[in-house]
Parts: sequence; C-alpha cells; structure tokens
Amino acid sequence: MTRPEPKQTAVPAQAEWVDAMPAPVLVVVGERLRYVNAAAVALLRAGDAAQLLGRSVQEFIHPLDAHRILARIHRAASGEGDNPPSSMRAFDCQGNELTLVIASSPIVCDGQPGVLASCMDMTERVAMEQRLRRTDEDFRRIMDTMQDVFYRTDAQGVTRYVCPAVKNVLGYSAEEIIGLPAAAFYPDPAERDALVAAIRAHGFVRDFPGRMRRKDGVIIDISISTQALRDERGGYAGVEGIWRDISERKAMERELERLATRDHLTGLFGRRRILELLDEELERRRDRRLQAPLAVLLLDLDHFKQVNDTFGHAAGDEVLRQFVATVHESRRGHDLFGRLGGEEFLLVLKGADEPGARQLAERIRASVECTVFGVPEQAGVRLTVSIGCAHARAEDRRPSDLLERADRALYEAKRTGRNRVSP
Ligand code: GH3
Ligand code: MG
Ligand code: MG
Repeated sequence: MTRPEPKQTAVPAQAEWVDAMPAPVLVVVGERLRYVNAAAVALLRAGDAAQLLGRSVQEFIHPLDAHRILARIHRAASGEGDNPPSSMRAFDCQGNELTLVIASSPIVCDGQPGVLASCMDMTERVAMEQRLRRTDEDFRRIMDTMQDVFYRTDAQGVTRYVCPAVKNVLGYSAEEIIGLPAAAFYPDPAERDALVAAIRAHGFVRDFPGRMRRKDGVIIDISISTQALRDERGGYAGVEGIWRDISERKAMERELERLATRDHLTGLFGRRRILELLDEELERRRDRRLQAPLAVLLLDLDHFKQVNDTFGHAAGDEVLRQFVATVHESRRGHDLFGRLGGEEFLLVLKGADEPGARQLAERIRASVECTVFGVPEQAGVRLTVSIGCAHARAEDRRPSDLLERADRALYEAKRTGRNRVSP
C-alpha cells in the first residue's frame, strides 16, 4: 500500500479565509497546537489564539479519549492518511466538557509533519439527546410501574397508546388494544359517548364513572380522569388520561350500604330503611291517585323479656331469628319486612285490603303460636305475638300517621290479653 503524500499546504496562519471559517480549525504539530482559527478560539473559550498556541493537545482531550485521539494524530502526522470524522470528549479553557466530532488529515507545516483538524461542536445536541433519552426512560419506567391505566386515543377514538398495567386490569395486553377503538371495551358504547361529550364540553373530566368489559367478560367499575388533546390549530385531537379499576371500592360501598340498611341480627331492613320504604309507598300511592290499598302490621312478641330472663340473651337472639323465619313463611313475597327495634317488627303490605291484611296477620299469629322455637340445650320455647293492623288513608302524609294507628291497635291487642290481632 502506498502512503498518500502529505499535503504541501501553505501555513494556514497565512490564509485569512481559514481564520474566517465558521467551523473550528486547528493545526497540531508534535502534539502541540500550532494554529487555531477564530472559531476554534471561541469553541475552546480562550481569550485569543495566543492563549492556545504552543499548548499540548492533551490538556484539552478527555482522559478516556486521549489514547485514541493521540493515536489518530500520530497516524495522520506520519502520513498514513485522513482520519474520518469521529466523536470525542474535550475540555475548553474553563474546564467545561465538550462533545466534538473531529476529522483530520496530514499536513506539512514549516517543513514539519502535522495534522490539520476541523471539528463540529455536538455538545448541545448530545445533551439534548441525553435529556430526551432520560425523559423517555422516565416515562417508560413510570408507565411500566403504574397500576392505573394511562391511555391516549386519536380524534377517531382509536387507542394509540396504553400502558402495560392494562393487562392486569382488563386481561388484554397493550398490543391487543392499541389500534382498536376504545369504545370496543365499553359494555355500553353510549357510556363512552357520554364521556367524550363531557370531555369535549369541558376539556377534561375528573373521576368520571364508567364501566369496562374484561377479557373474561366480567364488567368492572372504573373511574376516569382524562383531558382533550388539541392539534396545532386547537382542534380536537383525541383524549389522554388515566382510568382505574374501582370495582373493589364499589363492592365495599354496596356492602356498607347493605350494612347500614340491614339489621345484622335478622337480615331484615333496619328501622331507618323500612320507614323510608313505607314513606316511598305512601308517596307512590299519592302520585298515582289510585288509592291502591296499603296496610301495615306492627308485631311485638309477648312477654319476650321472660325468654331472655329464663334462657339468656343469646337464646333470645336465636328465638328472634326463628320468629323472623316463621313470619317469612307466612308473608307474601312482595311484602316489606323490617325490624323497628328490639322484638318489634313492621310488615308493609302492598295492595292488601282490610280483610286481606287481617287474614295474613291472623295466619302469622297462629303459626307463631304453633311453633316450638329451638334453643340450644333447652326444651323448645313457646311464644306468642300481638299484632296491630292499620290501613293507609288518603290524608296520611308521613309513615308516623299510619304507625300511630298501628301502635294504638297493638296496645289494644296487648291490653285485651295478647296473642291476638287488632282491630
Ligand atoms: P310485652 O308482651 O308487653 O311486649 O312484654 P315484653 O317482655 O315483650 O316487653 P317489652 O316489649 O317491653 O320488652 C322487650 C324485651 O325484649 C326487652 C329486651 O330484654 C328484649 N330485647 C330487645 N331487643 C333484644 C335483642 O336484640 N335480643 C334479645 N335477646 N332480647 C331483646
Ligand atoms: Mg314485647
Ligand atoms: Mg316490645
């Protein structure tokens, strides 16, 4: 292989156009700077060329790149040919690190072999790329670890991004979802339309309730917080946001609601709930103006204190449960049954006229009288119940109007000997 002849170039210092070049140019002879143009002075943040000339290039090269760069300088200086562009780290006069792309070729300077190098400052670009890479990594890390589902759709509602958590929540991988319309995962597309309408109207939604269908078909409750995306002209470009599975929370809320409205000993409606239901029945009756019959039965166990006193409170509780079971057998399916407190119960009989209500009350009374209630470690307990009946009237406004009459009737049943229905 023949070595290329080093360029017999005029000393660059004499060429004004090199000094005027926008790219930094340097000449190195024997590892020392022999010439720098104005752009190189600016790049290395020197006051003037005199501050640089004669100094060793090693002062400016990052130690990790020094070996490689010096080898390139020697290679070119010994006439082995041009060095193609290559990246290197350098320092300026103030100690700032630079990233340069540098290319060099052999030159003869004042009769000595040297290297003519030109470079491009990549410091800003490299820093920007690093920032971008870091941002990208941060985003990916957040997306990979978050439990909520981050997603983005385009203006047509097609999913363009969804984070991996979606697999845990919906059962579909992100790849299975991306490219499909978001509406495909809603059990009712109208719910997605309502969401999009709200986002278009306000620009965003917070904790918007919704539902989605999992891959296994189960419908889950979700809560969505999302904002509209805008294109350069401000037009609607889709949505971006987060949704989370709130099925567990919803189930807990339903359980709390059940606990709040149900009596825990008997499972019947509690006092508040049964009175609410009676109120609703009275209201419905007023609205319809049909004056469909409505009756209530107020039930109170006779001498129940004796059961507690004789067998203990726990046995009393058991008897209360069995009493409720006995009434369940007699009542009609659509009658509302609640515990007002203690051993006092209310039955709301929808559509029952006076003879019907009385008949049912009598049936309950008789079946309680016939029942032998089982108590652990005891022979059976016998029990009777007194029942007061009342019938809704057009002028009844509140449940208490009706209950007062039922209470008076119950008192009458107790007064006249118990184990009876009044009137
Ligand atoms: P009366 O025939 O006049 O109704 O007599 P009674 O003994 O049933 O009298 P009253 O209705 O005033 O008393 C109810 C008793 O029921 C008082 C209390 O000891 C008992 N009791 C109330 N709530 C419970 C409960 O949840 N469990 C048990 N085991 N006993 C209860
Ligand atoms: Mg009683
Ligand atoms: Mg009582």
